[in-house]
Amino acid sequence: MLTTDKNSPALATQKFRNPDFTAKGDERATVSLTKLDTLWVNTGTLCNITCENCYIFSSPTNDDLQYFTATELQSLIDEIKTQKLATREIGFTGGEPFMNPQMNEMIKMALSHGFEVLVLTNATQPLLRPNVKQELLKIKREFGDKLTLRVSLDHHSAEYHDKERGLGNFTKALEGIDWLSQNGFKLNIAARSIWNEDETTARDAFAALFKARNYQIDAYSGAELVIFPEMDEQVDVPEITTECWDILGLDPTDIMCASSRMVVHRKGEDNMKIVPCTLIAFDEEFDMGTSLKQSLTANGGNFKGGAVKLNHQHCAKFCVLGGGSCSA
Ligand code: SF4
Ligand code: SF4
Repeated sequence: MLTTDKNSPALATQKFRNPDFTAKGDERATVSLTKLDTLWVNTGTLCNITCENCYIFSSPTNDDLQYFTATELQSLIDEIKTQKLATREIGFTGGEPFMNPQMNEMIKMALSHGFEVLVLTNATQPLLRPNVKQELLKIKREFGDKLTLRVSLDHHSAEYHDKERGLGNFTKALEGIDWLSQNGFKLNIAARSIWNEDETTARDAFAALFKARNYQIDAYSGAELVIFPEMDEQVDVPEITTECWDILGLDPTDIMCASSRMVVHRKGEDNMKIVPCTLIAFDEEFDMGTSLKQSLTANGGNFKGGAVKLNHQHCAKFCVLGGGSCSA
């Protein structure tokens, strides 16, 4: 246990170090996996654009996470079956998933095995290539609403969306959403709360935009329009202790890592790695093994019997205090 003075300004630099205790010496909160409901696949960090606050630092040149392959996905699906995991959904995130040349093959593979599929996309050029659109239409015809696309539209105005994503990207994203909407894809939108706009104002403005463009998306549904909290790594946050659940009135089973895991393949590594969630892709101290089976019993460091010790600032900032979750 650390013995730092509870009021010391030096506390900030002592936070998120000891897996078992916070800098104040309190027992750190953990989250157990109740069921692997969603398996996230990071398809690779390459993206066609470079956003200012990309949580995973994607860009047209960042390939720190290499393209995930259909062969790797098949091995995970086999494991889900042999381990009899009650997985409902496979989610794909990036980077921009449609940069990955095997993306549609992986979507189809997951759907063919009976999973629901959620793809997070910026809905710009990679998705709008004619061959990708053609394959997506075929998938849509075969699997209907089992496939959901969640498009990032950071703000309802071009001004703020483009501030984050680069000039012209609001118009490009709308072009992608128009195509998805006109072709009947199940759609939802991911926005951000980084401009200090209150939620009601934001949802009202999104509702007006959806109506004007005839999108069948309910701006007042938290699942159809997800507004993610800011993820500023520089902001100091309190650590989460075992007592926080009661104090905050939160249930640990509602936290993302209670029902999901993510798989990544880092460049230069021989094997894919299982990590607790979509938010912690690079920190090797959060690696849970090279198979789902290993991840279920991960022990030592930041894990105890497959449970995650909330020893990362994202745990506090994004999940517990911000209420964020990546799934539908
Ligand atoms: S589109 Fe998404 S993955 Fe690409 S840079 Fe922006 S936030 Fe990152
Ligand atoms: S950031 Fe922490 S609390 Fe949130 S899902 Fe990941 S491991 Fe769990």
